[in-house]
Amino acid sequence: MTRFSPCGGRRASLRFLLLLAVSSNAVAGGTAVDAARLAAAGAETSNWIQHGRTQDEQRYSPLTQISGANVKDLGLAWYLDLGTKRGLEGTPLIVDGVMYFTGEWGTAYAVDARSGKLLWQNDLKVDRDRGQYGCCDIVNRGMAMWNGKVYVGTFDGRLVALDAATGTIVWDKLTVDLARPYTITGAPRVVKGKVLIGNGGAELGVRGYVSAYDAETGDMAWRFYTVPGDPSKPFESPILEKAAATWDPSGKYWEIGGGGTVWDSMAYDPELDLLYIGVGNGSPWNKEIRSPAGGDNLFLSSIVALRPETGEYVWHYQTTPGDGWDYTATQHLVLADLEIAGKPRKVILQAPKNGFFYVLDRASGELLSAENYVHVSWAKSIDLKTGRPVETDNSYKTSPVYQFPSPMGGHNWQPMCFHPGTGYVYIPARELAMIYRQDDTFEFNPKFWNVGMDVMKDLTVPAWLDREIVKKVGAATAQGFLLAWDPVKQKEVWRHNSETPWNSGALCSGDDLVFEGTGRGYFDAYDARTGKLLWHYDVQQGVIGSPITYTVGGEQYVSVLVGWGGAFGMSFGFSSNTRESPSTQGRLMTFKIGGAAQLPAVDRPRLLPQPPPETATSEQIDEGNKLYHKYCVYCHGPGGISHPNLADLRYMSAETHQVFDAIVLGGSQRERGMPAFSDTLKAEQSVAIHAYLTRVGHRTLEAEQSRDSTWTSVKHWLYGVMATVADWGVRLIAWFKNAAD
Ligand code: CA
Repeated sequence: MTRFSPCGGRRASLRFLLLLAVSSNAVAGGTAVDAARLAAAGAETSNWIQHGRTQDEQRYSPLTQISGANVKDLGLAWYLDLGTKRGLEGTPLIVDGVMYFTGEWGTAYAVDARSGKLLWQNDLKVDRDRGQYGCCDIVNRGMAMWNGKVYVGTFDGRLVALDAATGTIVWDKLTVDLARPYTITGAPRVVKGKVLIGNGGAELGVRGYVSAYDAETGDMAWRFYTVPGDPSKPFESPILEKAAATWDPSGKYWEIGGGGTVWDSMAYDPELDLLYIGVGNGSPWNKEIRSPAGGDNLFLSSIVALRPETGEYVWHYQTTPGDGWDYTATQHLVLADLEIAGKPRKVILQAPKNGFFYVLDRASGELLSAENYVHVSWAKSIDLKTGRPVETDNSYKTSPVYQFPSPMGGHNWQPMCFHPGTGYVYIPARELAMIYRQDDTFEFNPKFWNVGMDVMKDLTVPAWLDREIVKKVGAATAQGFLLAWDPVKQKEVWRHNSETPWNSGALCSGDDLVFEGTGRGYFDAYDARTGKLLWHYDVQQGVIGSPITYTVGGEQYVSVLVGWGGAFGMSFGFSSNTRESPSTQGRLMTFKIGGAAQLPAVDRPRLLPQPPPETATSEQIDEGNKLYHKYCVYCHGPGGISHPNLADLRYMSAETHQVFDAIVLGGSQRERGMPAFSDTLKAEQSVAIHAYLTRVGHRTLEAEQSRDSTWTSVKHWLYGVMATVADWGVRLIAWFKNAAD
């Protein structure tokens, strides 16, 4: 039995078990969702028929059966093991007693929402080789529903319509050029009979767009490109000609792609008949490479309003002009009607990665207010007259810059929620910095990351360094919290420290409740007014799914997908999910008052395999260390330490050591999501990486064998002190930088 189970965890046989029809009380797909029903979804208190529950994407349910008084009695009603170890980010849908949701790669499921019984499952035969193009795990965030069909965007770039009753495919359209590293992780939306879907891939290098397909036939209706393409070809729309004037063609951005992917957020206002899309970062991140003469590089990091019938541009607001830091504006868009300065305003709310909370007039795109919701060092403020940031000295052209927020964002894709009762927005927020450092040796590699930054250089710690110190300091310098934010006053109301920087989406419900899961492996409920923790439930591993609530048969339930992963979960998962032995079973978990179901105990033996003897030179090990932190770290974590949901390369078995090249170069674990690196790495480079990991294995074994000694206890105490000092150091640097600006 090998410990090398990097990516997947689904048994191969499941791959061929495309469809599972099981009889049950609940009947899938029995009702038709149409435009009127989507627009009036707020009145269907039992259901959650679209991604944000209502078209304004507030993720608020007025249900009050689970209340502040009894939430302490919430218990597990049922759970469903999904046989995956990868990240589960999805929002389930509820239509009349049936729950529909997506798992890894875009696998679609329907279950009886009262019992958890599987009604059908379809893995959509997603091409596992496309796993190599995932920046941030093989995740999927959800589905859309329309006229007896559910719609899923698959990781390999297809948009698929399934019969909601049976899970069989009705139509299946490729939405991307497979020659480019596109992926889909976002949930589609349906507006006026058209299915809208974007895509991702801006870390590797693609050109972003959103497309609309006829919900019945799957024929493409329109496509809106967010960035200009090859200047030797005609512009696809008049607005792109204007956008092109904000780019420097000497950067040849179109060869890498330019970026601007629409990989997550969308919202629709039926009254104004406007579709809003959130646009991502540039490809490459490094603006000096992408557009050397500068420029705003429209429509990177922007909120864009479109006509849903035609894809015609209406207005845009750019949050980070000329983005050079992966500051996407793909974060959750919430529509709300607020009274601002004594006047009722139809607004759009966003807390994008760049750390500022924006309130825009959603009819015109006018900026009404913007304040930083987390610590920010790249800009001092947003000028309300010009709508532009007042930037600090943040250039990395000549020297690296230590900057808040990091590419993980002050807030990432994890949806926030808006509670109409309190008037507050609840943001799964974080404070985390990164050193932005130019990659002086950058060369475009069409199969791998092309950010133009030396992202991991500062994490390439020497092979001799104790891994514990990496874990402790990593954990101490990253902060995460649920933030209650007043969007009218643009002020923090309360924050609850999640103890980890990477947590779940938020759910607002009646009687002033807010739910959030944490990277520590708990699912929590808070008093939405005060932030008081009212309920705390152990779900055995870090949770990043997006919770929902609904009723069946008059009883209220709360559901969440539990499966650790995603961008931070993979690259720094160890620093967040610090349990000795977390569960690695991806699950759908559903709670009700008095629920008495129990999760099975986590039974994962602690393995201490003996690494093979070291035969490599120290030069080879050093080279392997550098290569590891260039190519492997995004999934396996600094120093070979990852969460057990991925292969923790410190504990490779004797067998894995033997077949290392077959896995890394030959792609023998491709089905489980570990791509072949034969296009990227030479044979001697694979040998060097193996030599480095062998060294790490020996160091880990030595540390584990002495873990109960007094010296180890003293050492770990010292590391704790160092971590606290590092944490304070980070804060002081940020404080001084702020003061200096
Ligand atoms: Ca990005």
